[in-house]
Amino acid sequence: MSLNLRNASTEKDRIVYVKLRSVNLPLKTAVSDAKVLTGRQNALKDVALLFAEIETQQGFYGMGFTYTLRTGGPAQFAFANEVAPFLIGEDPNDISRLWSKLVWAGASVGRSGLSTQAIAALDTALWDLKARRANLPLSKLLGSHRDSVRCYNTSGGYLQASVEEIIEKAGASLDRGIGGVKMKVGHPDRKLDLSRVNAVRKALGDNTPLMVDVNQQWDRTTAMRMGRALEQYDLQWIEEPLDAYDVEGHAMLSAALDTPVGTGEMLVSADEVSAYVERGAVDVLMHDAPRVGGVTPFLKVASQAESKGMILAPHFVMEIHLHLAAAYAHETWVEHFEWLEPAFNERLEIRNGHMIVPDRPGLGFTLHEQLAGWTVAESEVGKRP
Ligand SMILES: [Mg+2]
Repeated sequence: MSLNLRNASTEKDRIVYVKLRSVNLPLKTAVSDAKVLTGRQNALKDVALLFAEIETQQGFYGMGFTYTLRTGGPAQFAFANEVAPFLIGEDPNDISRLWSKLVWAGASVGRSGLSTQAIAALDTALWDLKARRANLPLSKLLGSHRDSVRCYNTSGGYLQASVEEIIEKAGASLDRGIGGVKMKVGHPDRKLDLSRVNAVRKALGDNTPLMVDVNQQWDRTTAMRMGRALEQYDLQWIEEPLDAYDVEGHAMLSAALDTPVGTGEMLVSADEVSAYVERGAVDVLMHDAPRVGGVTPFLKVASQAESKGMILAPHFVMEIHLHLAAAYAHETWVEHFEWLEPAFNERLEIRNGHMIVPDRPGLGFTLHEQLAGWTVAESEVGKRP
């Protein structure tokens, strides 16, 4: 028996071209969570996306993206423009080294938050490229545990919606095969929260997974009282009951309640997420690859969470997180949002409560030409091969 080395190229590939594109993708309906009701933020009208496309000397291509809500889109684009030239001439396979190189290039503004969020677009494009080169879906390149992931809908359950509207949208989600429903709470009138959850639970019946999301607007006392009042509804989890940085508060709450407690979406580095994992402060880890700096740092924390047996339910961007969730050992969920669908030519298939991992190579997405209409800035570095 001889090994087939025909395809093993000894020549190192090089990154020769990077295209960056800043896009403001409008939402069909403006939405409000508890941060709007407490006056801290305005209703959300669009998503600011930063797309990165990378090409190599040998003709390989990868696409990744990051995003921000309400502020920071132009700053992410500006920072990505400053660091993208550091990729030119580099071997696209050395993703961990390139992540460090980009972080060091921008070390003066820190290794968390806006700078690493900009790097996330480039990092994700490198992972997409590597998986495309291997002709594998990203989940398979990482080492998959499953071909589909349980999914729930969030976009129908915001606070500006009446309870009738939430129930109607929940029914439509379940009819199309989505496996659970999340609704926003955190209304200043706590009784109103409870009556809305009561109505939705009654309408859905006992067997449909139902989650609530407080978007950080309770203090510890309120979270404990509301958490206890909500136990009767057999919720899948209570999300962001407290300030995103209150590790001890989350630890106390998750120890006291039967209902699982989750957080992580607002954390903007792997270290910040690690603080929760090391302390065992949550039951459901909900970090977000674009927000923590890309697929590379996301996976580092996910592997720590695996050793603690945590549930993984990454926040938003199902287009990326579906692959990362499929490669996680324990119970996992992806969040269904149709918001980003206009950016892509492909749609994710949903069946029997699960989102199916696409069998296309990489993330499995190509950019739709209508993105041009929402593009606010673009730039190129290097030369196309
Ligand atoms: Mg949330």
